[in-house]
Amino acid sequence: MVSLDISHTRHRAPRQEAPAPQPGARRPIPARKAAGRRPSGPVVPQSVKGRFRRIKWTTLALCLAIYGLLPFLRWTRGPGEPDQAVLFDFVKGRLYFFFVEIWPQELYYVTGLLVLASVFLIFLNAVAGRVWCGFLCPQTVWTDLFLAVERLVEGDRRDRLRKREAGLTPRRVAELGVKHAIWLAIAIWTGAGLVLYFGDAPQTLREFATGEASLLAYSWVGIIAALTYTLAGFAREQVCTWMCPWPRLQGAIWDPEALTVNYRDYRGEPRGSAKKAAELRAAGEPAGDCVDCLQCVNVCPIGIDIREGPNFACINCGLCVDACDSVMTKLGRPTGLIAYESWRNIERGRSREPQARRVIRPKTVGLAAALVVLSGGMGAVLASRTMGGLTVLHDRNPVAVRLSGGAVRNGYMLRILNKEGRLRSFAVRIAGIAEAKAAVVGPEPVVVDGDSTAEVRVTVTAPAGSEGALRFSVVDRETGAAYAADDVFLPAP
Ligand code: SF4
Ligand code: SF4
Repeated sequence: MVSLDISHTRHRAPRQEAPAPQPGARRPIPARKAAGRRPSGPVVPQSVKGRFRRIKWTTLALCLAIYGLLPFLRWTRGPGEPDQAVLFDFVKGRLYFFFVEIWPQELYYVTGLLVLASVFLIFLNAVAGRVWCGFLCPQTVWTDLFLAVERLVEGDRRDRLRKREAGLTPRRVAELGVKHAIWLAIAIWTGAGLVLYFGDAPQTLREFATGEASLLAYSWVGIIAALTYTLAGFAREQVCTWMCPWPRLQGAIWDPEALTVNYRDYRGEPRGSAKKAAELRAAGEPAGDCVDCLQCVNVCPIGIDIREGPNFACINCGLCVDACDSVMTKLGRPTGLIAYESWRNIERGRSREPQARRVIRPKTVGLAAALVVLSGGMGAVLASRTMGGLTVLHDRNPVAVRLSGGAVRNGYMLRILNKEGRLRSFAVRIAGIAEAKAAVVGPEPVVVDGDSTAEVRVTVTAPAGSEGALRFSVVDRETGAAYAADDVFLPAP
């Protein structure tokens, strides 16, 4: 029996307690309370300003704009073809993405894309931990949006905590009503926005506006809206901590050289008040930069005290960096007490070794190479993609027939795939066996409608004793494009 234990917990240096507070001095608020959690309540994060918050606002706006506007982007594909740039056409069984059109039998492209996305996520993790989660994950984007609404209606953290404790008043009920109404409107927009990717967006929107959309469309809007409302409005950090599998995996692939958000405890400890720290420094004694203001905890959307050490639930959003930087700036101390820093550098800092940024290392180089190879491979496969195809099925019984003149005949079923929107006519050719002759059973040339497949029966007759590999090809009579498939010619028993 083999057992495996994985511990994701990294320990910070033992906290060096500041001197005991003077009688009457204000006690630090416990972190749990500071994060605004009631025993069973959600995190109530405080707003913060800074460069990472600005980046988050920018990515939020970009993500929402792309999500909402992409279905309306047009892409000309020719007559009879949909002109929506990104479209999941379940009726026809097609996936359109700009110039790419995926048929059901080509779903390996989607598999390749998922593999590429996974490798990209692992690469990002090796460079900067859960930075995807902190800036681009839909859960983060929508939760940020819902929190912005909550802040707008109910006020910042202090107001929200006070109002929650105060109980219900008519004004409070009105506030809650407004907040939930806006949340619901966003959730419905999210649901409707997703449905627009599954049909012609302007037409679907018109149908929604006039109440003529299908029951299925309304049902999907309802399902996605309910999910958005629940996950972004109520589950929030619980999704990032408990429901998403990524933090679990994160524990297993944690990289101490990755630039994750960390607290430079060797610089921050012993923590204490700014006044006390100034006195200690004036007396030539060591004093940490952390003034235990708990701003980093208060702004954290997950409710983490990053000073306790790396935490698997941390989404690397950098808001605590912004909070602490602004405190340090006000105190006239250097910023970067909390920063995107590798855990190795924290350890180096503790032992006063020189710091080293190792973004380029075997792991990141290997993952970058894997990304390049995968992208190149997918690009090559896409570039060599044809607009048609051919499959051949040999008759099972009988596999060969001896004709009265002694010649042998084999029968085949050809399936011709036409991925173009126009009707195409094909000539059937064979090669591989000298003197073999093919005959199409039915009209010739073989006509295949646009965006469809056609089956045609073909017989091949060859002199007695003929046997071996046979190559079938169908040639577009207009463009000369040819699609081939191999089979065999069998002798009569
Ligand atoms: S914001 Fe900075 S100074 Fe304030 S508690 Fe956090 S680490 Fe310490
Ligand atoms: S600890 Fe800092 S980086 Fe991590 S989730 Fe909280 S605010 Fe974001």
